[in-house]
Amino acid sequence: MKETSLRDQGFRPSNFPKLEECLHFVGRSFPEGETTRGLHWHELLEQVLKEQLRVDQIDDGEAREAVAWAVGEINQRGIVIRGVEETVLVTGEDGVEITRGVVDAWGNGPENLWGIDFKTGDQRDYSAQFAAYSGALMARENVGHCAWLELYLDLRVASEYEVDAGSAQERINELQARFERRAEEAPLANPYCDWCAVRGTCPVWLEAASDALAVGAPAVPDEAPVNRLVYEIERLKQDPVELGHFYTAYRRLEKLVEDDWQLKDKIAEYLEQGREVPGFCLRRSPTQESVEVEEVVLKCVLPMGSVRAREFLSVSVPRLRQEWARFSSDPFPVTVEQSPPAYHVRQDAPKGRGRAAAARARRGKAMALKGASDAV
Ligand code: SF4
Repeated sequence: MKETSLRDQGFRPSNFPKLEECLHFVGRSFPEGETTRGLHWHELLEQVLKEQLRVDQIDDGEAREAVAWAVGEINQRGIVIRGVEETVLVTGEDGVEITRGVVDAWGNGPENLWGIDFKTGDQRDYSAQFAAYSGALMARENVGHCAWLELYLDLRVASEYEVDAGSAQERINELQARFERRAEEAPLANPYCDWCAVRGTCPVWLEAASDALAVGAPAVPDEAPVNRLVYEIERLKQDPVELGHFYTAYRRLEKLVEDDWQLKDKIAEYLEQGREVPGFCLRRSPTQESVEVEEVVLKCVLPMGSVRAREFLSVSVPRLRQEWARFSSDPFPVTVEQSPPAYHVRQDAPKGRGRAAAARARRGKAMALKGASDAV
């Protein structure tokens, strides 16, 4: 019987950053919209870099701006593109193929061989992936050194890395050796668990979830669960370490229930079949309403006057400040009241999480406002 290749077992450069954290990681597919958007932007960049499309021919404004920015970053470094969306072979020290992957783009600058990778979403440590790609490029071009350019399209962040052939090969060898003996390493919770296809059956997550569920379980047979729960919660509140462990376990249980086991979808399915699920019923969702800010200002605020407008208008102070600074060099004319300082609890999260979405939202709003003012 033919042996499954390492690549088919999941040993792919795009998985390397996750495998370095947990060798049992299995990639799951992204939400439909995200995948389509990321792929679409990659396709546009491919066409532009292959000179099959001009940036100004891209209809989607958000994509056009992102592609223009990425091309500008490449040009600024004097990189002459020699390949786009090219498959490269990742080999061992003996030159035998271990796996393969697709490099977004590569080329030559005034002094260096350059590899380029485009990313949508947040900034993360992708260096293991780039070690594989740059190692493959260096072997093919017979050079010992390479520069890597990572372009975060949503964040408009360009990061550069220097990679040498020896350390890239060492990193791949090390990961390959661990991957081949992965049965010896237990799964380890890490920031990529949210993208792992086996989270719903992962022992790390299941143990945490079952710990969270067991918190109120009776310690002795005739003890009432409610008393045990009250006692356990009071005990947890006295111990910061236990409290941290419990809260993590509780959040894991929550994610399993909502994302992996999708129990709410199962409830909806039963209700749609006309079966009774105690405590639940099907309700029509309220219709979402939205208005164009520009139209509200012109048709309501101006004729109704500012006193009435106070009843329905809300203002984003940072955006107002920003727009005022663009509009006038005079000091900001409005008095800003500041609330007393308040603190909130934040759980440790991977670096950069949510920053790309926030950057996109800001740009989306700015584009919508620009569109509205152009239309007037
Ligand atoms: S869910 Fe489990 S197997 Fe997947 S990456 Fe996290 S710890 Fe590893």
